[in-house]
Parts: sequence; structure tokens; C-alpha cells
Amino acid sequence: MPSKVDTNICEGIGACAEACPLDVIDIEEDENGDLKSVIARPDDCVECGTCVDACPAEAITLD
Ligand code: SF4
Repeated sequence: MPSKVDTNICEGIGACAEACPLDVIDIEEDENGDLKSVIARPDDCVECGTCVDACPAEAITLD
């Protein structure tokens, strides 16, 4: 399973997107105009956990 973002916690600072070696994550505006991380290319995720470690809010998990 690719990584998952808890959008209730995510503040869209982009640390995960920057850290991901495979460019899996994009930062996009949600319907409220808030920035959120989006697992845009889940098929490319190798479940390395780098994004999980990069997020200071612990908004990303791997199953
Ligand atoms: S687990 Fe690794 S490959 Fe998957 S989104 Fe996170 S940093 Fe990228």
C-alpha cells in the first residue's frame, strides 16, 4: 500500500513532497483553498517511509 495522508492533520508544508525520492507527492489546494499533500502517483511509491519520517506533524502513514 502506498503512503496515506491524514488531511485533517496535514498543513501542506511540503516536507514529504520534497523528501520523496520518487516524486510521488504533490501539494495541492483542497476545496477550502488549504494546501494539502496528495499521493498523486501512488503506483510509483516504494513504501520507503521517507515521507513519514519527514513530516513533523506525523500526517503520513504507511500500512
Ligand atoms: S513511502 Fe517513499 S516512495 Fe512512497 S511516497 Fe513516501 S517517500 Fe515517496
